Amino acid sequence: MPTTVTVPALAQRVALHEKDMVDFLSGLIRIPALGPKNGGDGEMKKARWLAKYCEDHGFKVEWFNAPCKDVTDGVRPNLLVRVPGKVHTRALWIMSHIDVVPPGNESDWKTPPFEPVLKDGRLYGRGSEDDCQSLAAAFWAVKAILESGEKPTFDTNLLFVADEETGSEFGIQWMLKAHKDLFGKDDLILVPDGGDPKGEYIEVAEKTLLWLRFTVHGKQAHGSMPNLGNNSTRGVAQLTVELDKALHARFPAKDKLFMPPESTFEPTKREANVPNVNTLPGKDVFYFDTRLLPKYDPDAPLKLVKDDVDVVQHDKAAPPTPVDAEIVRRLQAALKATRRVKPKVWGVGGGTVAAIFRRHGYAAAVWSTYDELAHQPNEYCVVKNMVADAQVYAHLMLQGESEGGRGR
Ligand SMILES: [Zn+2]
Repeated sequence: MPTTVTVPALAQRVALHEKDMVDFLSGLIRIPALGPKNGGDGEMKKARWLAKYCEDHGFKVEWFNAPCKDVTDGVRPNLLVRVPGKVHTRALWIMSHIDVVPPGNESDWKTPPFEPVLKDGRLYGRGSEDDCQSLAAAFWAVKAILESGEKPTFDTNLLFVADEETGSEFGIQWMLKAHKDLFGKDDLILVPDGGDPKGEYIEVAEKTLLWLRFTVHGKQAHGSMPNLGNNSTRGVAQLTVELDKALHARFPAKDKLFMPPESTFEPTKREANVPNVNTLPGKDVFYFDTRLLPKYDPDAPLKLVKDDVDVVQHDKAAPPTPVDAEIVRRLQAALKATRRVKPKVWGVGGGTVAAIFRRHGYAAAVWSTYDELAHQPNEYCVVKNMVADAQVYAHLMLQGESEGGRGR
């Protein structure tokens, strides 16, 4: 890093703020922020607390309120903290989300979901990992740099968005439409909203997710008189086997970027049909979970199935971020320097919010060190992961202008 701070000194300075990160994250956990689709009243209360916290620590906060008639305030808040860099040619974005999912069955929680509890190096609470661990880590990474008398290399933008958990219509989707002038095609975009316990994987691509519901119609009859009916469950069995074969045969490609490397087609849910054993069902409903490699036309499986099929969900894969995109290379360099690991670049089966950036033509990478507890009861943040991730962000912010190997 062409700066006066060495990597170990910077890491140490970041680590001094462990308690600040825990306190900050605790404050964030205490205020539920549930979108209306999740039975909540939006993110405004949490956003106000967050904005005040940022201001109390010397930052200016810009508000971008997406109109939404389903919440009391009439808007869903997206907050931006912009920290000027040494050069203004491009920006480094770290985007985290402030909304959370509902706690689910509260009796599954050992501690109250919206009461932060620190125990054995873990901070428990809804939203502790997904996604406020990253928010707190990015914030204190910037703080540590400024305290050391440095400036980030590029303008550094901490973006705290609403509505990630229910589709991002009022969060990053809206930002990229209503305020697209904020984003430059050359910007470096990191979305720390997913990761693995060692922080070894940088996610750059995803498969098309397609959930299908099939309805098989037969004719109900007594179990002893199948000649008078038409057993829909037999139809389900035949169709399942045939679909399974046909889909795998039609989409055989492998791509080593992904784990698993092929498209997947799995029969999953079955709806209850008849309540008793001695009745032939006259109607059956079953589902397929399909994940298609992005090289295929996302609509192609639909051409193979016809008739009584409903599309339950269809998230078309975005164009992948190139494996050698600059944000990926810079992140690899930061991980090598701070953790001495060589991270792997990969694609996942499910959708991530980074896909929204990719669809708009921005190269975005997903990375963080997570125990993968998103949406589970007893969600926690591993405090040492939060600090270690902050060290990675701090490194990323101070890397030299050409350190990512641009124009190599
Ligand atoms: Zn998340």
